[in-house]
Amino acid sequence: MIIIMKPKAREESIGSLISELEGRGMQVQRNSGVDCTVLGVIGNVASLDPTDFLMREGVERVMPVSEPFKKANRKFHPEQSVIDCGGVRVGGRQLALVAGPCSVESIDQVTGIALAVRASGASMLRGGAFKPRTSPYAFQGLKLEGLKMLEEARAESGLPIVTEIMSPALVEEFDRRVDVIQVGARNMQNFDLLRELGKTRKPVLLKRGLSATIEEWLMSAEYIMAAGNENVILCERGIRTFETYTRNTLDLSAVLAVKRLSHLPVLVDPSHATGQAWMVERMSLAAIAAGADGLIIEVHNDPARALCDGAQSLTPPQFAQLVAKIHALAPIVERTL
Ligand code: PEP
Ligand code: MN
Repeated sequence: MIIIMKPKAREESIGSLISELEGRGMQVQRNSGVDCTVLGVIGNVASLDPTDFLMREGVERVMPVSEPFKKANRKFHPEQSVIDCGGVRVGGRQLALVAGPCSVESIDQVTGIALAVRASGASMLRGGAFKPRTSPYAFQGLKLEGLKMLEEARAESGLPIVTEIMSPALVEEFDRRVDVIQVGARNMQNFDLLRELGKTRKPVLLKRGLSATIEEWLMSAEYIMAAGNENVILCERGIRTFETYTRNTLDLSAVLAVKRLSHLPVLVDPSHATGQAWMVERMSLAAIAAGADGLIIEVHNDPARALCDGAQSLTPPQFAQLVAKIHALAPIVERTL
């Protein structure tokens, strides 16, 4: 962190700032020119909030020089992380394909979809049992009953299961019963939930918040990692912009950015990003071309009657067609399926 003092900053102000920083374990390099003094602060600067120093007497500007996330940072962990999700490795050369319904609706629905997507090449099954809905009157999910159906679908299909958690009180239960715990966009900054997930070693699929910056998203990953769980997978699922034609705006440049900034694997969710089934195939291919480590896609046997997100759900044959195209694309970007 660099602190630039005002041209007429008093010597006492500079001295007391240096003592405060040193008292907090930092090393301070002082450079005094004719016009102003610049302080270079080194040490565990992540523990400092740069804005705290703006109000100190004599301070003109404060500039952070390194990212505030450490454990998620590629600088301190140059090799790509590969995360074991119930036997499926995410982040390596092989692409991960997570597919399944938005919500678990019945045992026949979820098992049928699991078998269909497995047959066309999915590596994991998704399905929401606890649903974060904008309206309290909308279907809220089958909750623990839905979780049981997911477990049965896993037993039938052999696919590891990915499902969303909403409450910190359920972390232990999810840890015992699921393979990957999803944190939805609306909970990306539920810090109590993130800290609780940090106590497990279960892979966490951390979706980007609706209007979260890349840094805020990585700081949420940092919460889980700093609490002890390094098994975090990021998921770009579209952000809110001025555009209303699509449900969200898929930020594919964020995939490149987070892969450069962080060693964590990144999946793309083209279903929630676009909200429209006909866009999912092309956006999936674009995501793979952009370097995503895999996709999470909504698939429903009867989208017209889905209890949630039917408009963005592929049918099993449409999913099979998409997988065939990914097969053709994968070698071009040095990936396998
Ligand atoms: C979901 O995956 O069904 C979901 C609710 O996603 P998001 O949190 O990205 O909106
Ligand atoms: Mn959904």
